[in-house]
Amino acid sequence: MIGKLSKKTVLAGLTRQELRILAASYGESPWRGDQIYEALMHGASDIESMSGLPAAFRKKLGADCETGVPKIKKALRSKLDETVKYLFEYPDGATVEAALMSYKYGRTLCVSTQVGCNMGCVFCASAIGGKLRDLDAGEILGQVYAASLDCGGRIGGVVMMGMGEPLDNYENSVRFIGLVTSPEGLNISARRISLSTCGICDKITRLSQEKYDITLSISLHASDDETRSRLMPVNRAYGIDKLMRVCREYFDETGRRISFEYTLIPGKNDGEDDALRLARLLKKYFEGAPFHVNLIPVNPVEGKFEGGGRGEAQRFRRTLERMGINATVRRTLGADINASCGQLRRSDEQT
Ligand code: SAH
Repeated sequence: MIGKLSKKTVLAGLTRQELRILAASYGESPWRGDQIYEALMHGASDIESMSGLPAAFRKKLGADCETGVPKIKKALRSKLDETVKYLFEYPDGATVEAALMSYKYGRTLCVSTQVGCNMGCVFCASAIGGKLRDLDAGEILGQVYAASLDCGGRIGGVVMMGMGEPLDNYENSVRFIGLVTSPEGLNISARRISLSTCGICDKITRLSQEKYDITLSISLHASDDETRSRLMPVNRAYGIDKLMRVCREYFDETGRRISFEYTLIPGKNDGEDDALRLARLLKKYFEGAPFHVNLIPVNPVEGKFEGGGRGEAQRFRRTLERMGINATVRRTLGADINASCGQLRRSDEQT
């Protein structure tokens, strides 16, 4: 049943060394652990398919463990660009989305960290229905393995911007970063990993103490508490000033430039006054420090919000620029396959 972490050990969540120890604990030689590690990296979702292992060992392993590598339930492939949107399924029936994006410099996978989400942002499809369960670190890594197998090439970057709030599944998210950056494994550079959060302040502080050079993305989406609390309930717990202070401390501690995401929702947060206030807020807390602002025209969810055009986004951007704040309007990839924001999973549930 979906709703609790599998009691089985998730193999993809173990390091190569831990897999060697696991193999030995079954009375097998440790290099069987290396075999399992290689099979996972090649996208094996079933233990049964690991034909290099003795059948009796596979059977015992299957009773206690699962791979963590999901199966592809659906894959939508854009005709406009090389974007692929996956609906992945785990053995308990839980489904999550991931999106593979191709850029000039390589492929990046947007992964999910939870099945659903408890943060309740009003514009977000993943919030509908709440969180069903956390994903294990190995299940997050399994999305990268499964997508690599499907696309037949190297994935060089990861954004933790799919379903779920990574800092609400802190241990698994950080362990995933350790695994995916491991030189023994996919060896993805931490600098090519972004973690996006709605702003759980104490966890941001904790993250600043981790040793990874990742990029932190903050889903800001408003420049005053009233608007932000209306859009994002998490703001009632922390508030914008606290969030901005913690972000500045994060930069001071890590030296890593923060990226602020601002989803533009027509009539809610996209006015001239919103842009001016945003510029003042950023200047107040990030004087002399680099940061990045990414503007995202909202993706309408179940008819709740009208999508704004890129023209409005450009107007917002120009206002920021007049105030000395550089911003980019996010390029839309996979526009023909609805490649964002939990909508594939919703439509799958409704069919
Ligand atoms: N929970 C994390 C990561 C998942 S959401 C976070 O809040 O950052 C990834 C990004 O997509 C966030 O910036 C989120 O606010 C944004 N998003 C969610 N629904 C959206 C929608 N309908 N249109 C545009 N952006 C959306």
